Amino acid sequence: MTTQISALLTPAPSTAFERGTITRRAVRPDDVLIKIAYAGICHSDIHNARDEWAPGMYPMVPGHEIAGIVTEIGKNVTKFKVGDRVGVGCFVDSCGQCEPCRTGEEQFCDQGAVMTYNSKDYDGEITYGGYSTHIVVKQDYVLHIPEAIAFETAAPLLCAGITTYSPLRHWKTGPGMNVAVIGMGGLGHMAVQYAHAMGAHVTIISQTRSKEDDGRHFGANDYRATSEEGTLKALRGTFDLIINTVSADINVDALLKTLKLDGTMVFVGLPENSQSFSVFSLTSQRRSLTGSNIGGIKETQEMLDFSAEHGITSQVEVISADDVDEAYERVVRSDVRYRFVIDATTI
Ligand SMILES: [Zn+2]
Ligand SMILES: [Zn+2]
Repeated sequence: MTTQISALLTPAPSTAFERGTITRRAVRPDDVLIKIAYAGICHSDIHNARDEWAPGMYPMVPGHEIAGIVTEIGKNVTKFKVGDRVGVGCFVDSCGQCEPCRTGEEQFCDQGAVMTYNSKDYDGEITYGGYSTHIVVKQDYVLHIPEAIAFETAAPLLCAGITTYSPLRHWKTGPGMNVAVIGMGGLGHMAVQYAHAMGAHVTIISQTRSKEDDGRHFGANDYRATSEEGTLKALRGTFDLIINTVSADINVDALLKTLKLDGTMVFVGLPENSQSFSVFSLTSQRRSLTGSNIGGIKETQEMLDFSAEHGITSQVEVISADDVDEAYERVVRSDVRYRFVIDATTI
């Protein structure tokens, strides 16, 4: 039997959020029903809700940073029990057969993973995200949230956390490495904490010095502001790895030149416009320019456990469902330190 649940939805592109109801499927044998406690606001929620990326499906219920408690399990569920603290991230199903799925990289599924919202399930149903009171998800796509992490600070780890943790791991961040994090927003403040905990020397490159105290508190060893003359020139040949978290246009050449021989620059922020660079910026020092997209389920669990072990959390501002429109405006203005999280009891 399907259930009607309360949700915060946007009926059409760029309209204000309103309370409404959506239908969740009945719990199947492999499903868990989760009572949502908190849902983070990711910048991509805004792009989706405003129809700035792929054509949106409306009404839309965004939210792919979900933390809550299991309230019901299907008869084949073995990984969870009622009362468990759990999380759901950016996708809720994948084909399970292709090479990426078999190697734990479900986010790169050949069939296309089923995204948590604004997507179609393999049975054709539209998916609705975390700005709601409950969600039904297959157990294989649900994560355990360790006791040490509070729900409201755990929620953003499911997207912002894994998006930054995964490339740091993939490019083997560790002691002796010089890592730069570009941008100090929702993603950046997580990247700094992970890179620091993995033992790297961490430099934040931000537009201004306004977040320097926070950045150093999160573990940065150095902080540079691009608004100051000659900043990037002074950093030439410095870094092994750059994690670019900003979604604005950047000077790719100037940043590539701050990489050492064989250094790598990774895009995790998603600028709307095409970016350009000179090939010489790569060939002159065998540098690499690449991108990364969230992480697989196994790695997401590893990230949560690593976060608990190292006391890493997202710094959040908890808001009511009434304040989501205003929060969107503030995210667009970068006026948040560092993630908004919706208290689901207010939906
Ligand atoms: Zn996200
Ligand atoms: Zn697959």
